[in-house]
Amino acid sequence: MRIAVLSDIHANLPALEAVLAALGPVDAVWHLGDVVGYGPHPDEVVARLRELGATGVRGNHDATALDLGRAEWFNADARRAIEWTAGRISPETRAWLAGLPERAELGEMTLVHGSPRDPTWEYVMTTPDARASFAAFATPYCLYGHTHIPAAWREDDGRVEPLGPSHGSVLPLDGRRLLLNPGSVGQPRDGDPRASAAVLDTAARTLTWHRVAYPIAEVQAAMRAAALPARLVARLERGL
Ligand code: ZN
Repeated sequence: MRIAVLSDIHANLPALEAVLAALGPVDAVWHLGDVVGYGPHPDEVVARLRELGATGVRGNHDATALDLGRAEWFNADARRAIEWTAGRISPETRAWLAGLPERAELGEMTLVHGSPRDPTWEYVMTTPDARASFAAFATPYCLYGHTHIPAAWREDDGRVEPLGPSHGSVLPLDGRRLLLNPGSVGQPRDGDPRASAAVLDTAARTLTWHRVAYPIAEVQAAMRAAALPARLVARLERGL
């Protein structure tokens, strides 16, 4: 099976469509949360994922779109965007988001948004974060997002090492435990504005990272039309 692994789509439909086209035919789509927030197309992105039969987990923006109680945890721009999202999404989108679990186990993979210790909110940014995370899931591999930065850590004989995947990197799933981040489809933050995603090939036992150019100006125009914060519009072309 070829499985598209998508995280942090953030209501960016042009980025999602470009990634789906670039990855080619897949047998399944898995997402790691933050389907909505920041971007102008929450209903459209959820409808597309429903059409694809995507399976996935809830992110902190998805949870906050349903319940603004934790919106004060966000910075001012993210809060404005999530309030806009909460006020706009359809009952169907709301119901779909509400049905997402905090974590999922699919075969050899644990899926979370943030970290296996705190699946919705914690960031895995550093090797110590990764080391603590390896103790918090039972499967050989864990897919996570939230940081918007493609990453991989391998646990080997008690040591944890960062692997630094980039476009075209192919990582073998050879039984050594891995924490794997496909990067963000809709708001990359590693200085490369192209959408980021990964493909899991269960027959070849590999995960491959991809970067995909998409029409950034198109989503920026939709964000301006929706009066979403200017800083969120500008950051897309910088990938930061
Ligand atoms: Zn996110």
